[in-house]
Amino acid sequence: MEFNNVIFPCQSSAEAESRWDIHVKDGKACRILPSQHMPGEPPKLLLPALCHPHIHLDKAYILTCNNSFSNRHPDYSDLVPNTGSFDEALGNTSKAKQRYTDEDLYLRGRQLLATSYQQGVTCLRAFVELDHVTGSLPLTTAIRLKSEFAHLLEMQICAFAQDPLFSTAHGDENRLTITALLTEYASCIQALGTTPYVEESREASLRNIKWAITTAIHHRLHLDFHLDYNLATPLPPNQPMVFSVVQQLQAHDWLALADESKTIVLGHCTQLTVLCDSELEQLATIIIQSKLPIHFVGLPSSDLFMMGRPGLETNASQARPRGTLHVISMIRDLGLSACIGINNVGNAFTPLGSGDPLEMAAWCVAIYQAGTISEAMILYGCISWLARRAIGFGENPGCGNIVEGTSLQGMLMVQNKRHIKLPGTADGSELTIPARQRTNLKDIVWDPPPIETRSIVK
Ligand SMILES: [Zn+2]
Repeated sequence: MEFNNVIFPCQSSAEAESRWDIHVKDGKACRILPSQHMPGEPPKLLLPALCHPHIHLDKAYILTCNNSFSNRHPDYSDLVPNTGSFDEALGNTSKAKQRYTDEDLYLRGRQLLATSYQQGVTCLRAFVELDHVTGSLPLTTAIRLKSEFAHLLEMQICAFAQDPLFSTAHGDENRLTITALLTEYASCIQALGTTPYVEESREASLRNIKWAITTAIHHRLHLDFHLDYNLATPLPPNQPMVFSVVQQLQAHDWLALADESKTIVLGHCTQLTVLCDSELEQLATIIIQSKLPIHFVGLPSSDLFMMGRPGLETNASQARPRGTLHVISMIRDLGLSACIGINNVGNAFTPLGSGDPLEMAAWCVAIYQAGTISEAMILYGCISWLARRAIGFGENPGCGNIVEGTSLQGMLMVQNKRHIKLPGTADGSELTIPARQRTNLKDIVWDPPPIETRSIVK
């Protein structure tokens, strides 16, 4: 097999726009020569594949699947957002969960995984909700999907408690449900996720955190919290929960007791954006000194949709603080590990989007005011190698310099069109305009290539 006229945008900068002709045998580059391409021929780009560090499998496309034309699938059309509030999203999603069927979960899950693969994703952490309403159904469907897509996607299943475990009428039942499933399906589950902020009190949130830490250690799982999902200024002595998570991880001796390969991921954490620099620096110092494998994941589309709602009493309804973790600053200025995820697509928590990580990275240029070339590189990392690292997968194949003998893997972007052709005037002539060509990472992040031009090489 041959790949001609290929650029590796993640190579060291001196070679980043050089073009190569590569002969491939058994998946490995056996000969790499300077490209003999024709002048003006658009290059192909081979990029590290993408990763979803945080995506909800069972909740995807609830509002956009439009499967109810078949009477074998539930109708969710009455569950579209009305106020768009967080409580409404929680309530409508609870109602949706009561209607889940095996076939419906399987179809929406396949649609999400197929779309992700076409977008360039090769690994993901898939969240499945397990509680007194869903029982094991989202989990057993996820196991089926993981097997069906195993040749295309590396998929981690995260057993996830979206609902309270230590408060409300169903807390005990939810906890018993997920506890039983963690044992019954131990060989199929790689991560445990909970949502401490949905508990009714701070004390219950702390119990939720402790339970999740000890349970993850016991079952040798990755740990994943949905945390500090608000934009309120913390009232002393109550710091954001992230401080308690670090304390509890230390108190339960995560470093000594947890499997060395397991990581801790903290999602949302929007409240950190209201802290002052000295408080953030204090948090960063605590985390770095703890040596705990903590990674933050920003979930901008959900955060911007959900956070920053005006209060009922306000007389300035357009003053909306749009808070989401400033992932680039956390990496560059605070020395923390962080990445970016899609979280939800097509449901009451995030109605918008196609789930494309590259589209999200492009939006992050605006969201983070990150318009430099080095920031484009970090943003690509946040949906690729940094995301992979956060959820405990190894290094991304295809990230470093390509030399003969290395395996050729990644997302190939093929730009076929040299020209854009448009209808001309009545005499039949065409308008012919040279097409723009993408030649580096900045072009990819700022202006994501159409999905039809992407494919996975492995
Ligand atoms: Zn989530």
